[in-house]
Amino acid sequence: MKKEIHITLAEPRGFCAGVDRAITIVEKTLEKYGAPIYVRHEVVHNEFVIEDLKRKGAIFVEDMKDIPKGSHVIYSAHGVSKLVRKKASDFNLVPIDATCPLVTKVHKEVIQQNKKGHIIIMIGHEGHPEVDGTMGQVDDNDKTFLVQNLGDIDKLRIKNTEKISYVTQTTLSIDETKEIIDKLKTKYPNISGPNKSDICYATQNRQDAIKSLITDKELIIVVGSSNSSNSSRLAEIAKQEGVESVLVGNIENFDLSILLNKKKIGITAGASAPEILVKNLIKKIKRNYDVLIDEMNGIEENIIFKLPNI
Ligand code: SF4
Repeated sequence: MKKEIHITLAEPRGFCAGVDRAITIVEKTLEKYGAPIYVRHEVVHNEFVIEDLKRKGAIFVEDMKDIPKGSHVIYSAHGVSKLVRKKASDFNLVPIDATCPLVTKVHKEVIQQNKKGHIIIMIGHEGHPEVDGTMGQVDDNDKTFLVQNLGDIDKLRIKNTEKISYVTQTTLSIDETKEIIDKLKTKYPNISGPNKSDICYATQNRQDAIKSLITDKELIIVVGSSNSSNSSRLAEIAKQEGVESVLVGNIENFDLSILLNKKKIGITAGASAPEILVKNLIKKIKRNYDVLIDEMNGIEENIIFKLPNI
């Protein structure tokens, strides 16, 4: 006889409006112009989505010089720097912008503060394409600083502290970012920035949901790829709250032995993870367990972002 396991699904979970829009842009571009279509960087950080788009004819590249002149190029949801836009123009590429409008909003903040002569402090993770794109809205490297953690603030040596602003990556941990902003405000009382942070609605809602989800749970499974910032933060939050968590990118490779002796688990999915992966995960668990499923009563998201002209 199979053992029983109780699964609670987080709500909201999975795709956000920015990811949905970016994938639709790639699909519509393929429909209109035919394969292949070039995309700078993974359009969203999810291996399942990327493999599916590759099968449909998308080619993902990191360097613009790898794209044949005159081709269409789609910018990923994470946004791009001014330099990338310039390279597209230098190589006669036709850009289609899938940058999430909430990332574009942060770009505009940076451009505006830079025009006012402000030094910009970006709170985010080094090497993440969104951080490169946002910091890359400013030509002068001396005018931007990256802060990844509280310790980085101690190392900052900024001479003109009268004109200084901060922005944040959209997919950070809300609690950790608040601590960083508080410390920045103590060190630089004149610092200006968005009301709280630039963390987006989808990140906020999924982090709020996981905090409710973890009550009574012995394990939290986060469906999402390891390079997905918002998915990784969800797994971290569960751990920080003392609940075992695991990030699962590839359902086929997921080892069911982690469920041994577990009776109550929670499942959520990062903003770039499609619902089919959650369904496939449950299907796999059902092979070995009698599954009882319920779903949290969470916030209903009905945000839709307009598509660009393709
Ligand atoms: Fe946009 Fe937020 Fe989704 Fe990123 S996680 S694509 S910022 S809505």
